[in-house]
Amino acid sequence: MSLPFCNVALPVPLRTTYTYAIPDALRDSVQPGSRVLVPFRNKSLVGVVVECVQQAPESTKIREISKALDFLPALTPKLIELGHWIAGYYLAPVGEVFRAMLPPVTELRTERKIVLTNSGRDAADKEAAATRAPNPQQHAFLSHLRDKGGVMLFASAAKLGLNDAALQRLRRTGFIEIRESMLGRKARTQRVIAWKSVAGVAEETTQRAAFDAKTDRVKAALEARGPLPLAQLLRVAQVSRNAIERMLRDGLLESWEERVDPAEDPFDAGYVPPAHELNAEQESALKLVRARFELGEFGVLLLHGVTGSGKTEVYMRAVQETLARGKTAIILVPEIALTLWIGRQCRAWFGARFEGVAVLHSALSDVERAREWWRVRNGEARVVVGTRSAIFAPLENLGLIIVDEEQESSYKQEETPRYHGRDVAIVRAKMENAAALLGSATPSLETYHHARGGKYELLTLASRVEQRAMASVEIVDLREDFAKTHQASPISAALHAGIHECLAQKTQALVLINRRGYSWSVLCRSCGASVQCENCSISMTHHKQRNRLECHYCGSLKPIPKQCPKCQSKYVYFFGEGSEHLEERLRKEFPGARIARLDRDTARTKRQYQETLGAFAAGALDILVGTQMLAKGHDFQRVTLVGVISADSSLSMPDFRAAERTFQLLTQVAGRAGRGDLPGRVLIQTFYPEHYAIQDAVKQDYPAFYDRETQFRRVMAYPPFTSLANVIVRDTDLEKAIRWSRQLSEYFSPHDGKGLRILGPAAAPLAKLKKEHRFQFLLKSPKRSLLAKVLSGAMTYLELKEIPETAVLVDMDPLSLM
Ligand code: ADP
Ligand code: ZN
Ligand code: ZN
Repeated sequence: MSLPFCNVALPVPLRTTYTYAIPDALRDSVQPGSRVLVPFRNKSLVGVVVECVQQAPESTKIREISKALDFLPALTPKLIELGHWIAGYYLAPVGEVFRAMLPPVTELRTERKIVLTNSGRDAADKEAAATRAPNPQQHAFLSHLRDKGGVMLFASAAKLGLNDAALQRLRRTGFIEIRESMLGRKARTQRVIAWKSVAGVAEETTQRAAFDAKTDRVKAALEARGPLPLAQLLRVAQVSRNAIERMLRDGLLESWEERVDPAEDPFDAGYVPPAHELNAEQESALKLVRARFELGEFGVLLLHGVTGSGKTEVYMRAVQETLARGKTAIILVPEIALTLWIGRQCRAWFGARFEGVAVLHSALSDVERAREWWRVRNGEARVVVGTRSAIFAPLENLGLIIVDEEQESSYKQEETPRYHGRDVAIVRAKMENAAALLGSATPSLETYHHARGGKYELLTLASRVEQRAMASVEIVDLREDFAKTHQASPISAALHAGIHECLAQKTQALVLINRRGYSWSVLCRSCGASVQCENCSISMTHHKQRNRLECHYCGSLKPIPKQCPKCQSKYVYFFGEGSEHLEERLRKEFPGARIARLDRDTARTKRQYQETLGAFAAGALDILVGTQMLAKGHDFQRVTLVGVISADSSLSMPDFRAAERTFQLLTQVAGRAGRGDLPGRVLIQTFYPEHYAIQDAVKQDYPAFYDRETQFRRVMAYPPFTSLANVIVRDTDLEKAIRWSRQLSEYFSPHDGKGLRILGPAAAPLAKLKKEHRFQFLLKSPKRSLLAKVLSGAMTYLELKEIPETAVLVDMDPLSLM
């Protein structure tokens, strides 16, 4: 069983693992998936064991592992397999892949406990000889553990004479479990109430209680939803605390203390999830999900539901069924705000019953994240809600992975490892033989293409819940508006009138603009120069309140110039309104209105974000202006107007996905209007009203857009008809970047034309970024395997030519070609 060497993935940007010797003392705690501390060059690094081996390579000097961090391996075998797939497919350094999969290493102390399992208890109850307990000493230990209440500190086992090897054996036999938990703040608890099963209740009590309306309401609530936190029960059943106490005394109810999630948010208290009867469309979608579960095998389902069609409700029930089958589920959402919202729903749906919803996203502190991560690894949480990296949640027995708003670009990690969360979700589902449920109102072209072709199963929710109308979408032609008004305000006359009407009717408006800052660029009227970032080939954005220029790519700052840096002319002017400017305009045009702005500048923390959204949802604001953040998922009931300042800036991006992005953005944002009982209206301002992305968005006709866009993609040989890889060669030294590009080109050119198109090298659209000069190759092939082969050949070639691995960046299935 225990092998003398192991291969360790280390967090360094190299494509290999490293072999270390396992000292005898650690033989029992080092297994595939364990985190270990090892000497590397002249440092100590935390890495993860990916396999144990009999032999070490002979050429190098083999060093020893200095410490084992885990007793229970952090990564499961399935996750190790997934990590290798990611490293191979995305050509990413294996150590960086595994680093992305592991919990943060915190300075905080952890507590390791031994927990007796049911079969361990059985073994302890029987005579030693009659069980699979390996020897009398271990049997004695199990009995001791049972007498201690089934839990003890890990360290106490050693005092009883059990070494790590013996404990590992008991763990593998299934007699004990090892739990890691983070020490820190004491966990808060809350009181949970449940309806007692009738068997335990005396006959007369039931009869007496049956005449009591309060009891009926409590019973109905608890039977429909399962155990509920006290505060929530009081609200749902509309009874007093005294009434509950009485029912507890009468033996109708039972109660216990339950831990409150650390990642819970303050809006949780008293949140009551809407428990709707599913409508016919939702019901038939769920039926298909259920059918997939019955088959018990891997499959991808696309839930294509228009905005406001009640997809969340379908997700919740699908998760519910997964849990009922004894399996676990992951729900991926595209952004942090939605983890809070979906997390809250999940806790309300499943929290009390299964005591296990974990939330994972980047706005948690390292300690919180590590704590949630270990709860999942210990099996204490069976539902995980999170952003992109939550796809690596160490759940076992996975039955379902949901990817909400699967088309969102935030699922793509734009740094190494450059994986796509949705695609990894599908691969993981396949490895674990689970179902993947992708949801969207505007699926990515790739996904819908697979659904049309029968590779994925298509579930459609064609109408909004309760026959609510879709919002009416109108175009404001900015050319006409200007001809009439001769005003250069970003707010057209029609939008102004619309907002005015909203304010008069006391409903709410959302105004979307896709740039943050005050002005996008600073131009000189004399020589035409714009103020560029010194590190990047991009113009700097003016931020008025902070009184400076900022580069949105590298974060560098400059004072606002009083004269042109090039020709010293005094005629510098600011061009192109951003969100900060728009907010100022709105305040001027609507002096009495309560206005707030939501973008990366105003919502720097999770708290600020929640406060603004919370205030808007609660009706404390009339107008919310902001960037794309506003477009996603939120369910505001009193929004009757959505204004889009300019649909054109995203259309004119030099990118083959520009039309798709514009269509998605406009449809999503239109989906924010008219979600309650009030009808919604959307005004889209544009200079190109004829463009099909805008026309189809106005009609909110996804299939029409899909048909037109696929024609273009087919002719131009772009995804989904071709696989694409973007290869960037970069260095701060221009000459090196050119030389390496030329060398790489020598490798690539013989492959060109043989089932593969290779474009470049050319200057990348972002020719300079963070001081690095960038050159680009674009590889296209209808055969993905061919693409992969040529690229992995390129990696070997780099090594041969001694081109540093870090100088060449490979982006497989790129979302952006910048
Ligand atoms: P989507 O994600 O598809 O845009 P949501 O899941 O946010 O839509 O649902 C929109 C609204 O409809 C929510 O307020 C939800 O509570 C409500 N809803 C969902 N299902 C039903 C139903 N069957 N009957 C009535 N209302 C529903
Ligand atoms: Zn000038
Ligand atoms: Zn910059």
